Amino acid sequence: MHEIYLIRNTFERIEEEFPEKFKRVSEIHLKVGLLSNVQPILITNAFKAFVMEFPEYYNTQLIVDTLDVIIECECGAKTVIEKNRFVCKSCNKPCRNIIQGEELYINEIKFNNNNEYN
Ligand SMILES: [Zn+2]
Repeated sequence: MHEIYLIRNTFERIEEEFPEKFKRVSEIHLKVGLLSNVQPILITNAFKAFVMEFPEYYNTQLIVDTLDVIIECECGAKTVIEKNRFVCKSCNKPCRNIIQGEELYINEIKFNNNNEYN
């Protein structure tokens, strides 16, 4: 259940980086590659559990953007991987040159503009 640690860590980083306005965070956008070892549904559930514990974040939304796994073959073709088949769709060679799908990062953070509840 390392998703809950990921969520805690995300909020800790936001609190550190934005000490004046972290309480007004309205949206957190995460990019999660399918090979990142993190399940989007578990992240969403961990986030909900976290918000129950910390009501100051009740109005914060988590948006998880899932990224497909893409390989780039030496022939130059890019292939979206399905069913763990790491094979170039153009020349049919096996390929492990992953150019997308291992990401796990905060892509964007949005804040409310004022101190009022909204
Ligand atoms: Zn190829």
